Amino acid sequence: MTYPAFTLDGYAETIRGLTDRGYRVTGFQDAVPTERHLILRHDIDQSIPRARRMAEREAAEGWCATYFVLLRTEMYNPWSRQATEDLRAMRQLGHEIGLHLDASCYADAEAMEHGAEAECRALENIIEAPVSLISFHRPAKSLLGGDRRIAGRLHTYMDRFTRDMGYSSDSRGAWRHGHPWQHEAVLQSRALQLLTHSVWWVGSEPQEPHQRLADVLDEHVERLDRDLAINNDVWSGRST
Ligand SMILES: [Zn+2]
Repeated sequence: MTYPAFTLDGYAETIRGLTDRGYRVTGFQDAVPTERHLILRHDIDQSIPRARRMAEREAAEGWCATYFVLLRTEMYNPWSRQATEDLRAMRQLGHEIGLHLDASCYADAEAMEHGAEAECRALENIIEAPVSLISFHRPAKSLLGGDRRIAGRLHTYMDRFTRDMGYSSDSRGAWRHGHPWQHEAVLQSRALQLLTHSVWWVGSEPQEPHQRLADVLDEHVERLDRDLAINNDVWSGRST
């Protein structure tokens, strides 16, 4: 079997392959492990503009996903004017916004609990809506499983979302643990949490994952260059 390419069209084809098998796209709260429910999860690790493009494509297909925003990162600033506009637009399209939490920023479980609460509140201020879901960024094994909430909120690695239902991810720009169409949960008609990263998919042509990241980095540099020119005469040359 040939599988869809890593492009936006390919992504839509991948999801359609599941809806054609009887799957219905649902949010985390509504997903029932024993039903053919499909949770579309996106961790935004590198680029909010790319996430927005994916969100627009999903909305055009009639699908609602959950996008998790990383606050403690050097890659983007969710409270920049453009990012705030992007995130609010994504909500308007029907998507949910959750917190992508880097637990390694905190010394122990108690500090993480406080930090998660503070980060959720900050994100709630940014998107002007409640944040009720958390996903961990590069989680340590000790954070996986169980049924304990973090800062009173559900998290995506709880047993109900990973053990009771299927879980599949496009880590490093490939289906390293098999294509979702062939996932054990799909073959058994059980629910599936599908984690994808827009950085691997946004583009009309397939590219090597490394090239996708290089392009994202170029976009960041272009944006910083523009911002510097707007805000600093030394850079724009207007002071000479
Ligand atoms: Zn991440």
